Amino acid sequence: MLNFIGMGSAFNTELGNTSAFLKKNDTLMLIDCGGTVFHKLQKSSILDGLKNLYIVITHTHPDHVGSLGDVIFYSYYILKQKPTIFFPEKELIERFLTSIGVSAEMYNLNSSNVVDINDMQIGEFGIDYIPVSHVDTIPTFGFVMKLNGKVFYYSGDANGISNTILDKLKNGQICRIYQDTCGLDYEGNGHLSLIKLCDTVPREFRNKVYCMHLDKNIKVQEIKHNGFNVVEVYK
Ligand SMILES: [Zn+2]
Ligand SMILES: [Zn+2]
Repeated sequence: MLNFIGMGSAFNTELGNTSAFLKKNDTLMLIDCGGTVFHKLQKSSILDGLKNLYIVITHTHPDHVGSLGDVIFYSYYILKQKPTIFFPEKELIERFLTSIGVSAEMYNLNSSNVVDINDMQIGEFGIDYIPVSHVDTIPTFGFVMKLNGKVFYYSGDANGISNTILDKLKNGQICRIYQDTCGLDYEGNGHLSLIKLCDTVPREFRNKVYCMHLDKNIKVQEIKHNGFNVVEVYK
């Protein structure tokens, strides 16, 4: 459903910062835009000739917004397009962008919690933002996305999966979960350890869960051995 530009945690830059996208013709929907993302977008020619760019942001940690300014500048000056940024905390994202020299006329901001867009290329898509538990310092969101009739959940960075989301997975209202998963398991961890993920998701539903944001303490083999999937990075 989604393609991935990177699938690593903040310090696991070898796998690239976790970021996903969907491209149809000259329209791109990008999810998060960490420090390593702009380089990879350029290298893979994903930005070439874009007429329409949507950027969905989950939170303002550097591995999620580190190159957001670069992408907006590139879009504004080179592609001559204003990207649309989605993030529910209006003032926070405006302050962040202002502080890195991105002015308000360079982008459109949609800060609704519930978004409904009908795009000519990628079709109808909806975003339902959900606050998740990650850190105490900044607001962090996951979201349920409806895309061409399919509904999936994207955790962003989160150390748990809510019962509401789990129930929706179990009763088929959500067909897939993309989940932040790490190897380390300790009290106060902002990410979801594989051990806790195993405790949370019964075996029969694990094939619908795709792990992302992997740290250096987890092995793909180990994740798959427990019945989950791992996202794959777009080459
Ligand atoms: Zn992160
Ligand atoms: Zn984070």
